[in-house]
Amino acid sequence: MHSRRKFLHTVSLSAASLPFINLKKSFMKDHFDETKTLRVAIMGLGSYGTRVAEAMQSCTRAKLVGVISGTPSKIKDWQSRYNIPGKNCYNYETYDAIKNNPDIDAVYVITPNALHHDAVIRIAKAGKHAICEKPMAINPQQAKEMINACKMANVKLLVGYRMHFEPHTLEVIRMRKAGEMGKILFFQGLSGFVIGDPTQWRLNKELSGGGAMMDIGIYSVNGARYMTGEEPVWITAQETKTDKEKFKDGIDETIQFEMGFPSGAVASCLSTYNMENLDRFFLNGEKDFVEMMPSTGYGPIRAKNSKGEIQQPDVIHQTVQMDEMAAIIFDNKQPVVPIDGEEALKDMTIIEAIYKAAKTGNKIML
Ligand code: NAD
Repeated sequence: MHSRRKFLHTVSLSAASLPFINLKKSFMKDHFDETKTLRVAIMGLGSYGTRVAEAMQSCTRAKLVGVISGTPSKIKDWQSRYNIPGKNCYNYETYDAIKNNPDIDAVYVITPNALHHDAVIRIAKAGKHAICEKPMAINPQQAKEMINACKMANVKLLVGYRMHFEPHTLEVIRMRKAGEMGKILFFQGLSGFVIGDPTQWRLNKELSGGGAMMDIGIYSVNGARYMTGEEPVWITAQETKTDKEKFKDGIDETIQFEMGFPSGAVASCLSTYNMENLDRFFLNGEKDFVEMMPSTGYGPIRAKNSKGEIQQPDVIHQTVQMDEMAAIIFDNKQPVVPIDGEEALKDMTIIEAIYKAAKTGNKIML
């Protein structure tokens, strides 16, 4: 807890800077107001929505103030749990009216993947900033439409890439950028778990847009990019399916994929819904390696190199993410690794290419 506080302190305001900020306040526009709290409504009060809501209770700059849900009993429960006023509660039919609610700045979409596209466009039309869970959408076309809708409405679109604020992850990125690992040659990403209930939305293509790749493999796709610092130029992929009943057409169970980067570095990754304990990144450079395990779970994240453990504070990912999103929205802060729609579109484009490579057996050039 102590280390988390220390970290939160370093990423938020220092007391010494307060007089300067107050002075600035009278001269600068709202979106540069570093003291402003991001007031958020969560859409989709399921398992991850609940985790975000709990984490937000420790935020210094973001506050849960509203909900959007199709289940009245959940709304009631959240109202009493998080002290949410009735005027900030909506269902899926009424939430366009959020436009007229001055007490909500942003809506965080935490519904099944295939519903992100419409929701983000409606939120943008209502003039609110959109925060959207990964995967941002179920294909690149949807992602582009979401980006355009937010641009047209002049609102920000941020994607819930919590690892982009995780201290061990950021330290590895710093080490790589500083040249401490030498030229990067190889990345390995293993992302998977055994999925349970066969009736859940994650195994229904209409709602998920795909299988393990959309849900968990995306961590290796995204991780390969932030760990190497490069964008892939080619992709190959192979799919294995051991249970055709549970993993129907369009729902991938296991995909191995390889990516090549402009520098000549390569990545080899595994995405699966049928193996437990797959949460490992390995980055190999000419001078040193880094192993992260766990690499993208809720934490604590662990990383080591040839010198031993890489020491960094353990944080609640969603707490830091939401405070940092407040700074991105109000202060135009630039995160080390972007979390905007364009960043997420890159993952969607790669995932589409992985599916194409797996289906055709071809090497896909990007
Ligand atoms: P969940 O099933 O626990 O919750 C989904 C919520 O959406 C439920 O409250 C459900 O009632 C609601 N919903 C609205 N319309 C629905 C419909 N038509 N069908 C089914 N449910 C509907 O799922 P979850 O695990 O909370 O995942 C939600 C989103 O969050 C997904 O996009 C997932 O990829 C993402 N997620 C991200 C992380 C992360 O670490 N960033 C972790 C878990 C989930």
